[in-house]
Amino acid sequence: MKWYELGEKAIVEVTKTDRQHGLTHKEVKARQQQQGFNELTEGEKKPAILVFVEQFKDFMVLVLLAATLISGLLGEYIDAIAIIAIVVINGFLGFFQERKAEKSLHALKELSAPQVAAMREGKWVKLPSKELVVGDIVKFSSGDRIGADLRIMEAKSLEIEESALTGESLPVAKQIKALPGDEVPLGDQDNMAFMGTLVTRGSGTGIVVGIGMKTAMGQIADLLQNAEVMITPLQRKLEQLGKILIVVALALTVLVVGIGVLQGHDLYSMFLAGVSLAVAAIPEGLPAIVTVALSLGVQRMIKQRSIVRKLPAVETLGCASVICSDKTGTLTQNKMTVTHLWSGGMTWRVSGTGYEPTGVFSREEREVDTRSEKPLQQLLVFGLLCNQTSISRKDKEYVIDGDPTEAALLVAAMKAGLTKENIQKQFTIIEEFPFDSTRKMMSVVIEDASNKRYVITKGAPDVLLVNSKNILWESRQQTLSVTVHNEVKGAIDQLASQALRTIAIAYRPLGDHESVHTENEAEKDLTFLGLQGMIDPPRPEVKQAVKECRDAGIKTVMITGDHVITAQAIAKQLGILPKNGQVLEGTDLSKMTQEELEEVVDDVYVYARVSPEHKLKIVKALQAKDHIVAMTGDGVNDAPAIKAADIGIAMGITGTDVAKEASSLVLLDDNFATIKSAIKEGRNIYENIRKFIRYLLASNVGEILVMLFAMILALPLPLVPIQILWVNLVTDGLPAMALGLDQPEDNVMKRHPRHPREGIFARGLGWKVVSRGFLIGAATLAAFMIVYDNDPDRLQYAQTIAFATLVMAQLIHVFDCRSEKSIFDRNPFQNLYLVGAVISSIILMLVAIYYPPLQPIFHTMAIAPREWLVILGLASLPTFLLAGSLLTRKPS
Ligand code: ATP
Repeated sequence: MKWYELGEKAIVEVTKTDRQHGLTHKEVKARQQQQGFNELTEGEKKPAILVFVEQFKDFMVLVLLAATLISGLLGEYIDAIAIIAIVVINGFLGFFQERKAEKSLHALKELSAPQVAAMREGKWVKLPSKELVVGDIVKFSSGDRIGADLRIMEAKSLEIEESALTGESLPVAKQIKALPGDEVPLGDQDNMAFMGTLVTRGSGTGIVVGIGMKTAMGQIADLLQNAEVMITPLQRKLEQLGKILIVVALALTVLVVGIGVLQGHDLYSMFLAGVSLAVAAIPEGLPAIVTVALSLGVQRMIKQRSIVRKLPAVETLGCASVICSDKTGTLTQNKMTVTHLWSGGMTWRVSGTGYEPTGVFSREEREVDTRSEKPLQQLLVFGLLCNQTSISRKDKEYVIDGDPTEAALLVAAMKAGLTKENIQKQFTIIEEFPFDSTRKMMSVVIEDASNKRYVITKGAPDVLLVNSKNILWESRQQTLSVTVHNEVKGAIDQLASQALRTIAIAYRPLGDHESVHTENEAEKDLTFLGLQGMIDPPRPEVKQAVKECRDAGIKTVMITGDHVITAQAIAKQLGILPKNGQVLEGTDLSKMTQEELEEVVDDVYVYARVSPEHKLKIVKALQAKDHIVAMTGDGVNDAPAIKAADIGIAMGITGTDVAKEASSLVLLDDNFATIKSAIKEGRNIYENIRKFIRYLLASNVGEILVMLFAMILALPLPLVPIQILWVNLVTDGLPAMALGLDQPEDNVMKRHPRHPREGIFARGLGWKVVSRGFLIGAATLAAFMIVYDNDPDRLQYAQTIAFATLVMAQLIHVFDCRSEKSIFDRNPFQNLYLVGAVISSIILMLVAIYYPPLQPIFHTMAIAPREWLVILGLASLPTFLLAGSLLTRKPS
């Protein structure tokens, strides 16, 4: 179908839609059944069975299975079956971990999928683009990603960037007229909007004409499917570490086997023991546990209202040293209420809070009737006309559709009995030039009943002043002399110093034949009318969050398009701006070179009247000073800075698709305090990963060393293969996972950010692994030797004791791993998962030791009660000997 050839009527007919009301829910259901969902079909998914089988592809596991098979053939059935059972259970564990990781990553993808606005049964609704069907009427504006192929029906200064489809990186201006002609290439179909392309300017509506694989994007979808799976820096480091550990474990195993054979052990039993040891000592589950810990952390973050879009951000969060935050909506509530109005030297106040349209106007403390105050009336009416927002009442509450700044103007006018509907009966809006944060203003062209046309502009007062030639002073037009100019400036500063956000309104009558097509033509030679000042209260939780960040060594910087004095006032209220802190304005920033900015960047806490382009400059300067920068943003123009920041943060509510896609973190509630929670969680996740790495590796070192020491001392094997595998599965498995769910230490937000290049074993972790591992091995061997006493008849009993000591030593040590300082630093009952995991491990151990049918399988014997004193005494030594002693820290 050549949709671009058809006019509106034909499109409506072909797609069987209703231009005014859109489709009905019933019709949508029917079409979805017929046409399917608006999705690009994903590539083949790996079947579950394959994921399961892959758990066994590990070389050492294969060797173990082969060795087990041989021992089975040699008649050691029990051993063989037990070993295979353990290997299979291990395989299941790995399988479930991998599945869980995959699922949560998928869920993340869904969560961050873009939403679209569609007309259903006469109402605009937000829905996932997946639900669009042919015939849906959709609207879109700057920053949106187009959800399906559309034939455009309305276009206001609409430009769309189609590089994903055509390779052309410059945005294309769009229009609505049908295009005659046979074969119009995709790039020239300027009345169409294609799925996956980005609206960079203006707004529009369209009718869906193609969905899913039937879109232009669907045709090339295969090319897009091989999106790479992102792994975090830590995962990459662990992959490298894993390779080293395999070599080390193998080398040590060979050493154990070699020495054992030299000391007279038979080759076969040494081989099986060696292979079991290698399987146990190689932390093959580590990457999966890390992924699970990361994704569980990510799920916890969702509960705290932030979505991680790129997994590496979880780690980077813990390194953040500066947060650059937008003001409006992030530090403040973005619930604006006009409280002051100014025109021609007069100031009015208006009472009321929120969007409730009740309040009274007063001048010099005396109530006034707005109808008798002409400049005030005019200010309110123009605020209504130059306004794209609407307000409605829902369940006793007023809800707005649009921009809170504009809503405040609507409400102020409503307090004077003026409504948009009534005013718009008297004037027709013929042209709109939407607001953008670089221009910092917006305009409309209106026509009154006598066909007279005016431009009305509203925007940042300092900008509007520059664009104004005249001023209306007590209903008389004057030229804007230097004195008057200064007086207006004084009024602006006066409002701003009370932390009010200020909007100025100006206008210009148009000559009969004068035409305006661009905003530049419209927004010049204006007549300045007056100001409206509105409060935007700070979010109550932000002050505390800023303080917590400061304690955590993280600086908060405010970046705002707002007036410098307003910004300063709010920054002071929130504790962002310290006594000697500097404030920089956009105009100063523009003049500075990158190097000049770098010189002062550490002292600047507030950037005011900036344009989105400045943000990139700020990020780069901070990064040049070795900062790890988190930067928030919401608009299309914020995307470059969000991308360049170490942690790009987009707003979930007010953010555009473009900003969200560039970001690595999305704040569901647009709240600064959520960034702090995310950083805390990021730090905790990293610490938890360190905790279980520490636990697993120290356990493995202990397992290897007990065998190595025994061989060197010409002793029999202190543990049989099945016991080693049991320890690997039970003792190392559950508690390690529970450590991944540990609560943060009290001081996580009291420490300085982690250095991004810090290695896994930094801050004494390597030393802890080796020292604890050594002592666990030594304690186990000691228990074995005390009981064995060179009496071959007592070998199995001594092995059972060694097994119990090793298990208990690890289970005590696991609590030590919860703290960077010492085991006494934390309440062991805080992490109930861990307590549960430890208790289950102990029960499973007792079953393996005391349950007669299992004794032949695990080569165990019932341990006499008093022997437990020896076991527990020796098992607690490694942890308590080192807790708080000098050995806790690596001797320097
Ligand atoms: P932040 O960057 O903190 O989120 P902001 O909302 O203050 O900030 P912008 O949206 O870029 O930044 O607004 C800059 C200025 O433009 C405001 O101070 C205000 O004077 C003016 N302004 C904001 N919204 C509108 C609007 N809808 N119409 C006209 N002018 C506006």
